[in-house]
Amino acid sequence: EVKRPSRPLDEPFNRGCREPDVLAPRENAVIVMLARNRERQGAVQSIKSLEKQFNRWFHYPIIFLNDDPWEEAFINDLTKIASGNVTFEQIPKGMWGFPEWMDHDLARQGMKRQEDEGVLYGGLESYHHMCRFNSGLFFDVPALKPYKWYWRVEPDVEFICAIPYDPFVAMAKHKKKYGFTVALLELRQTVPTLFRKVTDYKAKHKIPSTNLWNTMINPSWLPQPFRPLMSRLGNRDASGDAWNLCHFWSNFEIADMDWFRTQEYRDFFEYLDLDGGFYFERWGDAPIHSLAAAMFLKAEELHHFEDIGYVHHPFQSCPKNKLGAQMAFSKTFGAGYWDKEVSSGIGCRCACNPRPTLPDLVCIDR
Ligand code: GDP
Ligand code: MN
Repeated sequence: EVKRPSRPLDEPFNRGCREPDVLAPRENAVIVMLARNRERQGAVQSIKSLEKQFNRWFHYPIIFLNDDPWEEAFINDLTKIASGNVTFEQIPKGMWGFPEWMDHDLARQGMKRQEDEGVLYGGLESYHHMCRFNSGLFFDVPALKPYKWYWRVEPDVEFICAIPYDPFVAMAKHKKKYGFTVALLELRQTVPTLFRKVTDYKAKHKIPSTNLWNTMINPSWLPQPFRPLMSRLGNRDASGDAWNLCHFWSNFEIADMDWFRTQEYRDFFEYLDLDGGFYFERWGDAPIHSLAAAMFLKAEELHHFEDIGYVHHPFQSCPKNKLGAQMAFSKTFGAGYWDKEVSSGIGCRCACNPRPTLPDLVCIDR
């Protein structure tokens, strides 16, 4: 059992409900969904939910990315429900697949071994390509180039609270670079050598430890009896310190693409890519983004979206919101909306179903 940090990571941008300020200036931002044609229904569910809780007021554009050409049915269905501009893009060939130098047969043998060992998605070649793309390449997709901020959304997710403010504007105002809702412990078998390789890189390039690095690698809030356990779960650096496998769950991200576009981040990704661990292991983009954040960002540049209720099977994050079931009648928006704050909780009008809620699964502190 992991205890929630006694101090919150940072303050929520918003508490409770408010009238969305639909006239406020927008940021240079885009909603991005990577998906497959066969995920059409799940994509519809996610975008419907995001529109209902947020985008119907703010109308940010949505870009759909796919390694295959989009089918008409997907384009039609998603165009119908989005309230802003929608674009359907095919990912350039060079961004989806093995790195140029890699021996494909060797890589496939490696993935077969992972499958036999029961590594989640270890035997699925396309999943490895997806993780590599999301780790180091997505921000260079030509259609995303004009944008600074992005909100990553996956098929089959649900937003369960209203988001009556603009998180992009809030991120910019508070000088944030990376925002998350859920932080979990990574499956150890997917990253057996990742931390060692990251810390070798960090040492070789004399990258100093930030306040964030120290809290992620050695979380002071973990009760003493758990620290050795966490250390055994994690993998070690040259001096024996361990990563507790904490990482931000990247299926939700609101972040600054210009951070990913820095030379520092690109060099780091290139080093990892040359190692081969996106195929010979099953490094996910979540631990890559997280360890990069730990290394390159300050804790103050990170934001925990505690107010955004979010479901991605099998976990949900539901803000405490005791009065959230109350609804007000809004003169502007009608029944079910609000003219005044009706909630003393963090979220606004959260509808949390009884599935296990794991708001406690935030494994970092500062
Ligand atoms: P999980 O959340 O880790 O269980 O994996 P998902 O199946 O949800 O995949 C993560 C994201 O990558 C989702 O947005 C998927 O739609 C997307 N994705 C995974 N594999 C592929 C693929 O082969 N092609 C495309 N276009 N998208 C993919
Ligand atoms: Mn998913």
